[in-house]
Amino acid sequence: MEGGRDDSDIVIIGAGAAGLAAAIFAAQQDPHRKLRIVLLETARKPGAKILVSGGGRCNVTHHEVSTGDFHGKKNIIRNILNAFDIRQTVEWFRSLGVELKREETGKLFPVSNKARTVIDALLQRCQDLGVELLQKWRVETIVREDQGWTLKGSGGELHCQRLIAATGGKSLPKSGSDGHGWKMIKSLGHSVTDTWPALVGLLIQEDHGHQSLSGISHPARLSVSVDDKTIETTDGEMLWTHTGISGPAAMDISRTWIRHNDLEHEPQMLLDLLPGDTRQDVDRWLIDGAREAPNRSILQHISGKLPRRVAEFIGTHAGVDLGCKMAQFTKESRRQLVTELTSHLLPICGHRGWTLAEVTAGGVPLEEIAYQTMQSRIHEGLYLAGEILDCEGRIGGFNFQWAWTTGSIAGACCARSLMRQDHTESAIEN
Ligand SMILES: Cc1cc2nc3c(=O)[nH]c(=O)nc-3n(C[C@H](O)[C@H](O)[C@H](O)COP(=O)(O)OP(=O)(O)OC[C@H]3O[C@@H](n4cnc5c(N)ncnc54)[C@H](O)[C@@H]3O)c2cc1C
Repeated sequence: MEGGRDDSDIVIIGAGAAGLAAAIFAAQQDPHRKLRIVLLETARKPGAKILVSGGGRCNVTHHEVSTGDFHGKKNIIRNILNAFDIRQTVEWFRSLGVELKREETGKLFPVSNKARTVIDALLQRCQDLGVELLQKWRVETIVREDQGWTLKGSGGELHCQRLIAATGGKSLPKSGSDGHGWKMIKSLGHSVTDTWPALVGLLIQEDHGHQSLSGISHPARLSVSVDDKTIETTDGEMLWTHTGISGPAAMDISRTWIRHNDLEHEPQMLLDLLPGDTRQDVDRWLIDGAREAPNRSILQHISGKLPRRVAEFIGTHAGVDLGCKMAQFTKESRRQLVTELTSHLLPICGHRGWTLAEVTAGGVPLEEIAYQTMQSRIHEGLYLAGEILDCEGRIGGFNFQWAWTTGSIAGACCARSLMRQDHTESAIEN
């Protein structure tokens, strides 16, 4: 503190995944602890989302990550991801004392199966490296000064030479990420794209009768189409809920349905209950079934590939008498059933909102940062990392990977730029 002004070298706003990675990588550049590195967090406790992630187990990353797993500017995302890849991420966690294990799905979790292991390790490393973590410190405004930045907020006033904004998006706002970060970044001249909830459950019109399926999960293919043109398709497990659909397939495609709905494009959601089979395959399966077991009921036959309640539901929507024997199946009924099995129209009428969304779609455009350093192209000395940026991944650990990668680049480059400056200044003094 000089003359009442609290000075630091680097301030990181937000102690989420990206901010914690940034703090650690910044501090690691400075083995002699010359830099004062401060991590500001509005919440009472840091890393709230890490703790709740992956059902309390924290899906830290995925064994394979490519640009196809993300939405955003692919060429920039590719360059960023290459700078700190999965091998480095796994090694880094090992160096923090967190061993990761790969599950069948390709997702990587801590072997402890506890998200607490991850957050504790990150906080311990911050402490070991001398990072000052100031909790319940909400930054309200950021002001550009001749030399650095002045931050004002609930903790008072703080000046720094370099600033890393890792304030996240708007999902799970009670965690502390309420979108205020974007307002501050906008006030500095950056732009923010439209933003909307992603990786979130979708609501189905009540009269669709899906309530009886609540709790059932099965493989599915979901497609969003606009004006009969397919915009996106996802394959994976889909979970029926009392209010609609969830599970990886539904969560992954939610961003696309929500976006087109916001734009009033009247998107349609089609459900394929037998992904991998074409219409012709399904038709052939029904014809063969009638030949091989003519006395079997239609319900029995389709229950061979679907949970029984789902089979009943879809049969009802097809207007088919499921008690009817396969041999008595008319061509017309068979066609209707094939249509319902492969492209059942789900009347989606909304989503479960920011409170239940796992991430935010949209953010600060990637073109406004230099991908090599994560430094703003508008202001020298300002760096951005994590979900604040316009990039989000599908379910599977990709969003954390984005946070670790962008945080590590921002932290390391930001500290190095200060050390270089320090080195140049002392060379001049000598
Ligand atoms: C329920 C849930 C489960 C999830 N599970 C997974 C998973 O298993 N795997 C995966 O890859 N992703 C998962 N995600 C997504 C992942 O958690 C996020 O993508 C990731 O945490 C983003 O990290 P971040 O550091 O950019 O932002 P955040 O984690 O949102 O951190 C931002 C931090 O900044 C603080 N902050 C914001 N504004 C201010 C301010 N003005 N002043 C001071 N501090 C401020 C916030 O309090 C917060 O701590 C999950 C998300 C949710 C909600």
